[in-house]
Amino acid sequence: MNDTKNILQDLHGRAHAYLRISLIERCNLRCTYCMPAEGVKLSPKTHLMTYEEIYNIAKTFVDHGVTKIRLTGGEPLIRKDIPIILEKLATLPVELSITSNAVIIDKFIDILQTHGVQKINVSLDSLDASKFKHITRRHEFKKVYANILLLVAKGFTVKVNVVLIKGFNDNEIIDFINFTKDLPITVRFIEFMPFDGNKWDMRKTVSYADVLTHVNAAFPKENVIRLKDAPNDTSKNYTIAGYKGTFAIISSVTNPFCDSCNRLRLTANGQLKNCLFSATEADLLTTLREGKSITPIIQKAVQAKFKVRGGMDTLKKLQEPKLHSNNRSMITIGG
Ligand code: SAM
Ligand code: SF4
Repeated sequence: MNDTKNILQDLHGRAHAYLRISLIERCNLRCTYCMPAEGVKLSPKTHLMTYEEIYNIAKTFVDHGVTKIRLTGGEPLIRKDIPIILEKLATLPVELSITSNAVIIDKFIDILQTHGVQKINVSLDSLDASKFKHITRRHEFKKVYANILLLVAKGFTVKVNVVLIKGFNDNEIIDFINFTKDLPITVRFIEFMPFDGNKWDMRKTVSYADVLTHVNAAFPKENVIRLKDAPNDTSKNYTIAGYKGTFAIISSVTNPFCDSCNRLRLTANGQLKNCLFSATEADLLTTLREGKSITPIIQKAVQAKFKVRGGMDTLKKLQEPKLHSNNRSMITIGG
């Protein structure tokens, strides 16, 4: 193994300062692009990280340079011990944030604020209640919509994640952009990605270029402003002149941003994924439970990271079911 001092530096020169932790494999929604209708095989409860284990693993990453932690799931807020997880992680010197479907987030406003969680990403794939029901298989549109407004009113920085699916919600791209007219939010259009069991088909993916075609047809060219992207940003950012909010496109399928990737992912059952698309995982939890150091395992996993999309470096490879299904369902990765 390469004897680098920074165990979070990979062989392609990327330093990893951002850890996404999935807290739970279950969810109170059933988004079709995220999980199969029949559900996923859940880990036995004893195989899931306890809050102490989450803290211990997170601390090791922070000791080696992680400065940002995002909690995800499944739905992170349905985990019963979420208050204590937030309390413990808030003691680490990191920016702590969360990705949620926002169905029950109104009950957590105080606790999120107490523990310094400022940035919240919320999934909302349609502004139409019946389409929301179709994609999530649950009737929760009103709550999610009201909770987005509540989060904004409470001063959180809110990004709304929209997974675009051709023929389903691409006719709402402009409605979503107009949602940012009076609301200081960022709407992020995400290209539909292939994962195990989500019936992905390239023909269903609405590309970055497709989004811009819709935008350019709806707004005068001079009103569409390209914003500067932050370092390590996964999205291409835009605003419409005079709008309070912004919009962005996450193009993992047609324009991967792997060169500047600084992310690592920890699954709820304690496996380190060096890439969203990786077929392999490193078992940190078993090692931790054996009382051994997880540091060498982290280093080995980081050094094994492929340059592009878990080795699926061409669109042709990404489209091969044998390759992209050699992964988990998204619900057990966390986005
Ligand atoms: N339950 C939370 C939520 O929905 O925000 C957190 C977990 S969810 C897996 C995290 C993100 O992954 C969501 O924004 C969701 O839209 C996105 N996602 C899930 N499956 C996807 C797919 N096949 N392609 C693109 N994004 C996906
Ligand atoms: Fe649940 Fe989020 Fe997956 Fe939807 S995208 S099923 S809300 S984990």
